[in-house]
Amino acid sequence: MSLPVVLMSRPMRPLVARQLTEKVSLVESHLQDDPDAAIAEVAADVRGLACIGQKVDAALLDRFPKLEIIANFGVGYDNIDASACAARGVMVTNTPDVLTEEVADTALGLLIMTVREFGAAERHLRAGKWEGEGAFPLTAGTLRGRTLGIVGLGRIGKAIAERAEAFGLKIAYHGRSKQAGVAYPYFPSVLELAAACDTLMLVVPGGAETRHMVDKPVLEALGRDGVLINVGRGTLVDEAALIEALENGTILSAGLDVFEQEPHVPAKLRALENVVALPHVGSASVHTRDAMGQLVVDNLVSWFETGKPVTPVAECKG
Ligand code: NDP
Repeated sequence: MSLPVVLMSRPMRPLVARQLTEKVSLVESHLQDDPDAAIAEVAADVRGLACIGQKVDAALLDRFPKLEIIANFGVGYDNIDASACAARGVMVTNTPDVLTEEVADTALGLLIMTVREFGAAERHLRAGKWEGEGAFPLTAGTLRGRTLGIVGLGRIGKAIAERAEAFGLKIAYHGRSKQAGVAYPYFPSVLELAAACDTLMLVVPGGAETRHMVDKPVLEALGRDGVLINVGRGTLVDEAALIEALENGTILSAGLDVFEQEPHVPAKLRALENVVALPHVGSASVHTRDAMGQLVVDNLVSWFETGKPVTPVAECKG
């Protein structure tokens, strides 16, 4: 029997292609001279897609009539119209759990950097200012006495909460519903959560439902001592409103791993001293990215060998 055709149109960790080559007929279109022609040539036979950030909508699905499964590299899959896939019987998988601790570490690192201005302090030293001009100024911010409002107390949100508790922070949270067995105070809206805390941590999925959930009123509610940390998706925040709030002191500072138009980061945002900006590195260690790649492989192989995926997304379960 011929091996199932799987298309990979962007590079992933080397282990993905190495392992898939043994189990499926892998087409790596990005390695071809004419990637579009390479895709067109196999489109009618493609049964699996290994996907990393590509937009998948109804129009794309139309191109692959035999498509059975899309294995997404990443836990967030707002790039994929999973409901449209489910409606057509196309399985979608993601890479949960294996990145949870890494992203939680990133979130805490970003929080501390932002509140204590470690990026600016390091720039002060590297520029020779410590020796030339003297000590770096005391920071207005501190973690002491802060209340961390977590928007999205899911896998990563809970791992962040564990760490934040160890740092002595009080915790509160918002999600679409109150969670049984969770003792942290629950707030039914982001606005109410922002009003009740001084540090907001965003770790919910992107997509239409959560777009601009942090807007001008939420930033005003967070207040002058407020710190916003976003490790979820750039679309969660109205970036223009955030820039204004950072410029005029509506909030104290922001730590951002994600942006509305990645990899574009507005010049105004890059210029602000009260911003720590990271280039979407939440899960970006070799260890964790390899684990994510392995899960992409495992999902595809399991699907073609047993008819069952390892980690289907919510829309494709049951
Ligand atoms: P989970 O599904 O475990 O958690 C998501 C949480 O968000 C849940 O608690 C859910 O609670 C809440 N949520 C979902 N939709 C909404 C909504 N519309 N309004 C309010 N709350 C909502 O996912 P993970 O913790 O594994 O990952 C979370 C997100 O983190 C990913 O989707 C991704 O966007 C981002 N991420 C970013 C990375 C980076 O590199 N910066 C790396 C990995 C992930 P409830 O169901 O009660 O609403």
